[in-house]
Amino acid sequence: IFDGIYRPGEDGIPEFKAYVAGQWVFGESFSEVKSPIDGRIIARVSRLSRDQVEEALARVYEKGREEIRNYPGEKRVQSFLKAAGLMREAFEDFVNVLILDAGKPKSNAVGETKATIERLEKTTFESRRMLGDYVPGDWSEETLESEGIVKREPYGLILAISPFNYPLFISAAKVVPALLSGNTVLLKPASADPLAAIMFVRVLELAGFPKESFALLTIPGSFMDDVVKDRRIRAITFTGSTEVGEHIIRTGGIKAYHLELGGKDPAIVLDDANLELASEKIVKGMVSFSGQRCDAIRLILAQEKIYEDLKARILEKLKGMEPRNPLEDENAVMGPLIDESSAEYIEEVYKDAVEKGARPLTEFRRKGNYVWPILLEVSKEKIKDLRAFNEDVFGSMALLIKVKDEDEAIEIAKSSRFGLDASVFSECERRARKVARKLEVGSVFINEYPRHGIGYYPFGGMKDSGVGREGIGYSVEQFTTTKTIVHNFK
Ligand code: NAD
Repeated sequence: IFDGIYRPGEDGIPEFKAYVAGQWVFGESFSEVKSPIDGRIIARVSRLSRDQVEEALARVYEKGREEIRNYPGEKRVQSFLKAAGLMREAFEDFVNVLILDAGKPKSNAVGETKATIERLEKTTFESRRMLGDYVPGDWSEETLESEGIVKREPYGLILAISPFNYPLFISAAKVVPALLSGNTVLLKPASADPLAAIMFVRVLELAGFPKESFALLTIPGSFMDDVVKDRRIRAITFTGSTEVGEHIIRTGGIKAYHLELGGKDPAIVLDDANLELASEKIVKGMVSFSGQRCDAIRLILAQEKIYEDLKARILEKLKGMEPRNPLEDENAVMGPLIDESSAEYIEEVYKDAVEKGARPLTEFRRKGNYVWPILLEVSKEKIKDLRAFNEDVFGSMALLIKVKDEDEAIEIAKSSRFGLDASVFSECERRARKVARKLEVGSVFINEYPRHGIGYYPFGGMKDSGVGREGIGYSVEQFTTTKTIVHNFK
């Protein structure tokens, strides 16, 4: 499947081509791809020149849009099913690349590959969301003699920018519904771990998708401004940090934006919660993939009565948690962080919290980019000063805060600039739902940690966590707009 998209370099390290809408080409230079596991260079990826970027854009805009229009939805779905089959054939390759390139624990790499295959397969019923509306005119004097047909139309050319943490699934969760709904796509994968996205694009090509309807932009994020500004691009779907998301909207001007940004997910534990369940879920929510998830639990707001008990249970469960080399330990839950500067950043944020009065409940340990989970106890008066509260800390670090009652928990949760998800733990459904109704977040999980899987439920944030929703069915709405055709019978 992957023959022809790379060659062995002089030192034996594979050198990958980029996909410029219909052709695989080498760039004028290469970017090195290092494994977070041990810093080894595992590949070199073609870095497209300005001219190659323009060529990709022009082809996707001109030829690609025409090609996809002539490739009916039914065929698009068949191609996705074929792509799912090809991914099953190359399952091990995808898993191994995710482990090496992103430093993923094996279970996480397997889960991501499976989810991507399922995402492709679910297009069979997702396509049913591409329906329109019929609006009768009889509600208004003015339109009595007319009726409207509201049709969903693709935006045209969509720029999809994905982050490093789910380099395969998030790329697919953007490209698949964008193409399904008749758009063409430029995919810009994260520079830290672009290999799985390159392989995914190959799979789409072999699955028979119109060749010029998509392209892969392997260039550094800092070179993206001209692309983001380009007026041929009508919509941008971006998943990544709030800071880069803001920069993109400022640069991009008038376009449709779908932004999945940072999070600070709180877990609210009420005094009637099942504490064994709550502590187990909270620890999973903190440490899975070393907390490099926008939906990781980063605040724990526990009621006074159960505070000490919950704390003891969480600490007990954190004891066995440590980052391991995923190549040496197939059962590792935590692996390395994506790079050393991410680990240094966590250390800075940790020191800032301690200096400002947070009390560490775990010993701080870091070896290079391997960081042990961190739990800090802090009073509600102090949290607003902490970088750990105000910034999107992409690691396994949580703040534990004692609260009087649910109102106080809600107030603290709402004071965060982020609003991605929240968890509420309580044995009383009525109480939990009352809390859920008041939180300003995109999803609330009752007696569960935030987890989104392949996106059966709509996913997305409020406030600085982003705008728009994705998920099976929801994404095609996100990537289309409406056109109304009014028929006058007078
Ligand atoms: P990032 O913001 O550094 O980069 C994301 C992508 O944007 C990368 O492909 C990068 O190359 C590109 N980029 C960087 N500068 C750019 C620019 N000026 N113009 C255009 N593109 C540019 O994020 P990351 O470190 O890859 O991922 C971690 C972040 O992603 C965290 O902040 C996390 O919260 C967020 N995230 C959010 C969600 C969500 O659904 N809300 C999901 C996963 C990750």
